[in-house]
Amino acid sequence: MRNSGLERRGRLEGRPVGVGAVPTARSRELAAHIALLDLVPDAIFARDADRRITFWNHGAQATYGFSPGEAVGVQPHDLLHTEYPKPQEEIEQLVTETGGWEGDLVQHTKDGRRLVVESRWAAQYDESGGMAGLLEVNRDITARLESQAALLELQAETERERMQNQLHQAQRLESLGQLAGGIAHDFNNLLAVIINYAAFIAEDLEAASAADGEDRWRSTREDIEQIRHAGERAAHLTHQLLSFARREVVQPEVVDVNDVVSNVEQLLRRTLGEHVELNSSLAEGLHSVLIDPGRLEQVLVNLAVNARDAMPDGGALQIDTANIEIDAEYASSRPELSPGPHVRLSVSDTGVGMDPETAGRAFDPFFTTKPPGQGTGLGLATTYGIVQQAGGRSQIYSEPGVGTTFTVLLPATGQASLPVEPAMDSPVRHGEETILLVEDEDALREVTRRILTGAGYRVILAENGVDALRVVDEHEGQIDLLLSDVIMPQMPGPQLAKQLLARQPSLRVLLMSGFAQPILDSGGHLDAGMEFIEKPFSGPGLLAKIAQVIERTGGG
Ligand code: ADP
Ligand code: MG
Repeated sequence: MRNSGLERRGRLEGRPVGVGAVPTARSRELAAHIALLDLVPDAIFARDADRRITFWNHGAQATYGFSPGEAVGVQPHDLLHTEYPKPQEEIEQLVTETGGWEGDLVQHTKDGRRLVVESRWAAQYDESGGMAGLLEVNRDITARLESQAALLELQAETERERMQNQLHQAQRLESLGQLAGGIAHDFNNLLAVIINYAAFIAEDLEAASAADGEDRWRSTREDIEQIRHAGERAAHLTHQLLSFARREVVQPEVVDVNDVVSNVEQLLRRTLGEHVELNSSLAEGLHSVLIDPGRLEQVLVNLAVNARDAMPDGGALQIDTANIEIDAEYASSRPELSPGPHVRLSVSDTGVGMDPETAGRAFDPFFTTKPPGQGTGLGLATTYGIVQQAGGRSQIYSEPGVGTTFTVLLPATGQASLPVEPAMDSPVRHGEETILLVEDEDALREVTRRILTGAGYRVILAENGVDALRVVDEHEGQIDLLLSDVIMPQMPGPQLAKQLLARQPSLRVLLMSGFAQPILDSGGHLDAGMEFIEKPFSGPGLLAKIAQVIERTGGG
């Protein structure tokens, strides 16, 4: 009887072991083996030369739901509707040649569930070396695969969320930047007017005091000084906002980041104070990057000031530079990064650190955790803007109670760097040249005119580019310098300059702006040969720059 357990067990051995047979040592040993096989949770079965099942353990029953009576005598293929990873003949062939096979199979249980099993086959041979049958052990790995798939899905989901968050942060900062940049631009012009008129009043008072011989203007002079001082502080703030908004004209140069770090190290030491130790480790053979070196200094200073604030009881600040290669895969998951060689600048402190929520908002303009009067919340926003404009990326790693590391990744440039030149103060120079002043804001035009005429220059005024072309046509005699705003209705400053230069190649050009979107649109560069001054400027600052431009080009 096929459905007798003992009979099927007998078939495994190849001879019947009937019920009631005298137990021999051999049959006891066999029964023990069978009991042992039944303890294994895996499905274990044997097949004869016709591939029909001859043995079916408890594990097979538990796995597939078929009893030994249902399984024995049937081909497992028919019983379990097996799907093979490759054609069955190939597997048979392998078993014949090598004596075994391993692989994953898809099989179906009695109640229709679909299982993935890890299957191991071993051939059995008869005395003459022919194949007498197969032993098969199958382990159900469906649950394991499912939990792996769930885990992978979970990981993918987390990664998607992380990228979404990064994108949201970038978009939020972008729109904040547009808002802040627009306000800062308008403020800048107003501040230029306030600061310069305060300066005019101060000069008049100076003259009046000198004439009166007595100091009855002293307290008024001090008040004016306060106005100027506040105006300058406000101008400093709008500059930071413009940096964040990437609306300032930058003058990128090929820079060795190590040079910049070395140049500001002294300043940083003073900033940090004695109780903070400053160490740097600068990589040799560092790639050059394209960035405005003054702005990169600003990044370092801002980060150092924050680190100092985070270490009220002292600690250590570490500045590191290194070359790193961003591969395509890494870049694809980070918005704003492109693959290729980069320079990594990292600034680490041993300070109080940030919780994830603070770190997530730290780059926002005006986000500060410091008491009123101590924080502006612009330090990191500025840093972010500067790095962004240079095509790089800023990141925070922070752990409360442990410290904070800011990393800045800047794309390497193929060009070789020149040593960073320290800025030189040019002496204020009085001139007699003729200057064409083009500015669409009336108050600012008037302030600038007064500064220029005060220094002895002859000034011709125009309200915009079209007006300027007309004025030049009417003017008899030579114009030495064009001093023009960049953003103006009808014709931007650089375009006006090009038209005038075409007529008079010896014309010197100085552009002024706090906001130079068209220039930035073409990559943040000024047209070659065109000098630039940022608004708001002080009287002496403007005169020094004009003197520089005129002298550099061999005029005067
Ligand atoms: P501010 O320094 O004026 O507050 P920042 O933009 O420079 O503005 O920094 C924003 C906030 O980020 C800080 O108020 C502080 O909470 C946090 N922060 C910045 N740098 C650090 C740092 N190195 N360690 C701990 N917290 C920091
Ligand atoms: Mg700060």
